[in-house]
Amino acid sequence: MSETIFSKIIAGEIPADKLYEDEHCIAINDINPQAPVHVLVIPKQSIAKLSDAAATDQALLGHLLLSVAKVAEQLGIADGYRVIINNGAGGGQTVFHLHLHILGGHTMSEGMA
Ligand code: 5GP
Repeated sequence: MSETIFSKIIAGEIPADKLYEDEHCIAINDINPQAPVHVLVIPKQSIAKLSDAAATDQALLGHLLLSVAKVAEQLGIADGYRVIINNGAGGGQTVFHLHLHILGGHTMSEGMA
């Protein structure tokens, strides 16, 4: 697995303000926020992209979603937020270490794009 900016943050090689951390993941503010709240939930285990996840990653994937809900609650946006995973370059992914975007802090418009 090649190093990414996220694996360096997880390893402590690059400083980042962690909003949340547990045994399996961290949450940090996105450096280029697309909404008033834009947080990334990142597994410590490096999976390049969602489509690379295996059946053995099932518990981790569930843990990431539950962590999203926990972080949203912690940030006071539990009533409404959007969760996005960009998968692959064609899906807009730029950092090839799986991560979930939490976007919120204002009323999200309808639709997916
Ligand atoms: P992707 O496009 O891969 O789904 O999302 C990558 C996200 O990582 C982007 O929203 C980008 O702004 C964010 N990002 C890239 N480099 C850094 C960094 O060094 N620190 C933080 N906190 N976010 C980053």
